[in-house]
Amino acid sequence: MPPDRVSSTENPQLPRFVVQKHWARTLHYDFRLEVDGQLISWAVPKGPSRDPKVRRLAVRMPDHPLDYAAFEGTIPRGEYGAGAVLVWDTGAYEPLRPAGVSSKEWLHQDFLRFILHGAKLRGLWEMVRYRAGPSPKEMWLWIKLRDRFVQTGYDPESEPLSAVSGRTVDEIRGSEGIPAVSEHERPLEAWGQPCAEDPFQLGDEPGPTGIGPPGRLTQ
Ligand code: MN
Repeated sequence: MPPDRVSSTENPQLPRFVVQKHWARTLHYDFRLEVDGQLISWAVPKGPSRDPKVRRLAVRMPDHPLDYAAFEGTIPRGEYGAGAVLVWDTGAYEPLRPAGVSSKEWLHQDFLRFILHGAKLRGLWEMVRYRAGPSPKEMWLWIKLRDRFVQTGYDPESEPLSAVSGRTVDEIRGSEGIPAVSEHERPLEAWGQPCAEDPFQLGDEPGPTGIGPPGRLTQ
């Protein structure tokens, strides 16, 4: 483990990561790593934990285009994944690939280790491939590895503001003329009609426009 390599220095050569908090039908977090010009994506129902004893389910979702990492705003009702998106954390990351493993090959490994240089998420993390049940989805566990950035009992809901704009979700909604709602109110009611995405149901990942399959609205 190389925790001493962790640095706050921004290196423009490093790829980026983003965690977007997404108030779709079900509140969840979307974790995305830049790999070969795409955002490799997972939906994380409970969000990240800095507690190394906590393993968070992360369901692999379709890749997203790189520029989606900067998206913060609302996806219109009726579109797949309708709801608010807040850039919860972002920054550079360092993939810790085994020697001789290309970035493409890396994604087929059963363990992905990397160092995050975010505002909220820092230090060593790991994704562990985990298969359960008959689902064709790739199931992973997202785990904090031990270093000086661990925090026992961490709750991502304790840090609700956008890492890029400092806004709350209600301010994001308000800037687009959408009434504010409580953090704890179900987005379903807020939007007045069902939204599509629900990682608990292992549905496909949406996008604001043109990302993911259209016309897949479900209950
Ligand atoms: Mn999402």
